[in-house]
Amino acid sequence: MLGRKERGQLGLFITGSLRQLIPDEHVLARVDRVLDLSWLPGEVGDAYCADNGRPGIDPEVAARLMLAGFLLGIVHDRRLMREAQVNLAIRWFAGYGLHEALPDHSSLTRIRQRWGAERFRRIFERTVMACVDAGIAKGEVVHVDASLIRADVSWESLAVRHVEAVEAESGDAGPEAQAQHRNGRQTGKYKKVCTTDPDASMATNGRNWRLEPSYKQHGVVDELCGVVLDVEVTAGETNEGQELLARLDAAARIAGSAIKVATADAGYAYAKVFAGLEAREIAAIIPTKAEPIRSKVPLRRFRYDARHDHVTCPRGKILRPNKARISHGRFFASKARDCKGCDLAAICLSPSRVTKALVIVHDYPALLRARRRRERWGEEENRLYQRHRWRSEGFHGEAKTWHGLARAVRRGLGNMKIQAYLTAAVINLKRLAAALLATIHAIGRALIAGRRQSAAHHGRRAGGFDLRSAAAA
Ligand code: SF4
Repeated sequence: MLGRKERGQLGLFITGSLRQLIPDEHVLARVDRVLDLSWLPGEVGDAYCADNGRPGIDPEVAARLMLAGFLLGIVHDRRLMREAQVNLAIRWFAGYGLHEALPDHSSLTRIRQRWGAERFRRIFERTVMACVDAGIAKGEVVHVDASLIRADVSWESLAVRHVEAVEAESGDAGPEAQAQHRNGRQTGKYKKVCTTDPDASMATNGRNWRLEPSYKQHGVVDELCGVVLDVEVTAGETNEGQELLARLDAAARIAGSAIKVATADAGYAYAKVFAGLEAREIAAIIPTKAEPIRSKVPLRRFRYDARHDHVTCPRGKILRPNKARISHGRFFASKARDCKGCDLAAICLSPSRVTKALVIVHDYPALLRARRRRERWGEEENRLYQRHRWRSEGFHGEAKTWHGLARAVRRGLGNMKIQAYLTAAVINLKRLAAALLATIHAIGRALIAGRRQSAAHHGRRAGGFDLRSAAAA
């Protein structure tokens, strides 16, 4: 029979909480069971005047509104507050009744400015501690990776900053630079900058992709259940290798345990990184980069002797350090009389040079040890590196696909950090809620199994007791 539904009911009357209208499996209902923000007023109290002005929005309410937005992927304040007008789950999660007026969206902006990024970082860190306390994160085996986030700027806002061009205009540059500028030729000194968000910088994910105005998120993810132990944001052009050690130190501090194994991709395979990991006694699962082939006599054929601080060339001649200094290493050079008449001179020496000079980067012995370890990787190391892709890229993908981190919502590094901290916090809260649900199910299964056992035992004693009806009960 054709069904009919009367529309246009006059009103909704409920007694009790809005909670009874929200399904138990709704993400806000699940997260609410594990969310504790009772510490927040104490944390943000010093950002408010104690005895003057109109009382502001309850800090817990403001944080809950923001977290609800990130959990549901509604990252823009205006859209979030419009949704909260009609969304019972958001109203209940933030503590508002059905007919209560919600704050204006601009209040959330002012709260973000008042609290600053560091207080939002505390919210994130508390979620990590809750995960460690619940036993779903240990901080012993971690995966590190970085991902670009498109800055909230248009292509029209990009401008070219070029020192030579300015000099050429003012007539300070040499004739060559002036000619280049007149011809419109670009050199490596040209650089695009974002005029509307100067904290972002041009970066790319791969060689075949164009440069985009970006920020870079650096994340440390725990192996056990994928809890995010640390997250930080820098300008897009920042090299991930520069950040790794600081991020691992932060993760160990928050989790309160020493990291034993860290995995990362080849983008982190620098001598300085390996040396830092060795100093911290952290086993590195990082594939070393293949040595760039710039010469027919590659660098690996020159043996560095750390004890005597010299390099031995393929023909057994000694190259010693000279006084020329560069930021990432030292020059080692041979003697002209050693290379004179050498059978490899034609392919070993640069044209117009009579000596061999090469750069040994700082901490080079650590890089050599890492290369040797890489050759000995066994099943466990390969398994962990496979897990790295799953855990790290899974975190970045989840943050971008479900929680709006594919693009910056606001401009400025501080706002970008807040977005990253809240995104990581909601991911951790989801992990915590899932763990709680799994525990409840496990207890339920244990109770059913206990009942079955008890019924079987009773059935054996009483004889002829129906086991199936006992389990159903
Ligand atoms: S050219 Fe000089 S540095 Fe190169 S292999 Fe010969 S002796 Fe050694």
